Amino acid sequence: MPSTGGSRILENYRPPFDATAVKRVKALGGIVVGKTNLDEFGMGSTTEGSAYKVTSNPWDISRVPGGSSGGSAAAVSARQCAVSLGSDTGGSVRQPASFCGVVGLKPTYGRVSRYGLMAYASSLDVIGCFGSSVADAGILLGAISGHDRLDATSSDTGAPDFTAHFPPADAFGAKPLQGLRVGLIRETLDSGVDHGVTSTVQRAASHLEELGCTVKEVSLPSFSLGLPAYYILASSESSSNLSRYDGVRYGSQAAAEELNSLYGDSRARGFGAEVKMRILMGTYALSAGYYDAYYKRAQQVRTVIRKSFKAALDENDILISPAAPSAAYKIGEKKNDPLAMYAGDIMTVNVNLAGLPALVLPCGFVEGGPAGLPVGLQMIGAAFDEEKLLKVGHIFEQTLQGHRFVPPL
Ligand code: GLN
Repeated sequence: MPSTGGSRILENYRPPFDATAVKRVKALGGIVVGKTNLDEFGMGSTTEGSAYKVTSNPWDISRVPGGSSGGSAAAVSARQCAVSLGSDTGGSVRQPASFCGVVGLKPTYGRVSRYGLMAYASSLDVIGCFGSSVADAGILLGAISGHDRLDATSSDTGAPDFTAHFPPADAFGAKPLQGLRVGLIRETLDSGVDHGVTSTVQRAASHLEELGCTVKEVSLPSFSLGLPAYYILASSESSSNLSRYDGVRYGSQAAAEELNSLYGDSRARGFGAEVKMRILMGTYALSAGYYDAYYKRAQQVRTVIRKSFKAALDENDILISPAAPSAAYKIGEKKNDPLAMYAGDIMTVNVNLAGLPALVLPCGFVEGGPAGLPVGLQMIGAAFDEEKLLKVGHIFEQTLQGHRFVPPL
């Protein structure tokens, strides 16, 4: 079936093979019922950056579903399919999961083969899973994980049987998470986060305490550096990755008299504004005169971030934070303000820079803000410790009383 990555430049593109993740789902009997909408090449947070359509949020169709994998999140939220795949370079599975009230799982970098995934920023890209329960997302992860000789960065860490961690709720003891050390990242509750989100996440932390966890605030002083470092690194890598769409190797070709205008016209016509801006920013950051000031510095910041997460995860079993600073906002609200849109990625980008796994699951509804919108809790684990995230997430979900995360018809 056609595969466009949300871009006009791939309007009629039909891939000649399946991605490894898709192949594995099919091999186990899974049925692919369709392709979903996304921001062009994964660049965006709302699906408004798609060259084709804007996806609505099933909880309120005047609102965005999040992005970039907003179509995949909305499809599961509206119960159009059991599970779906998305890609998460800086939060594109977790933020839409939060906005649509479903579970979103970003695996450890390398856990899932990227073979066949359209590249955005290769050192950050991961294929992730959506489900309406933690168990569903975990089952999907089990299906797509594992080494693949077609992706040199795929890990040979064996994929455990993730399904072993989903006992029925009546099998839990009184304190099923006794002794689990949980660190609540202080910087994620700072100003800039909606009050309704903060209070819902704090209630989720109390719920973890009731289950036997010890919850303490931890500080990650480098947290706010994640956003600028991410946007420099992601744009730089994308400027290189997207050079293949030139109307010759990939992408629809403009009619032209000579080679330069063939490249130029194909790209001018095929790429949307956000993608062009990122290519320009990335090319600038990688240019000889600015490389040290931007790209190299951002790589150094990435190392600092990675180390600070490692230290926090040596002291804690998992870290928690909101999945996004707000619940789903209105379509059009941030469309013309890229910086405001980028700021919404503050909760998720650090996890990609550190290569860690994270699970987002609905934990309540926003209070004091727009009524009835779900709020996502993010749980971050040590590299290749998805098992712990799924176990804790399942117990949290099955014991959370009084909420049903099914959008109104
Ligand atoms: N919103 C972020 C961006 O635009 C994250 C996207 C993603 O994870 N694909 O880069």
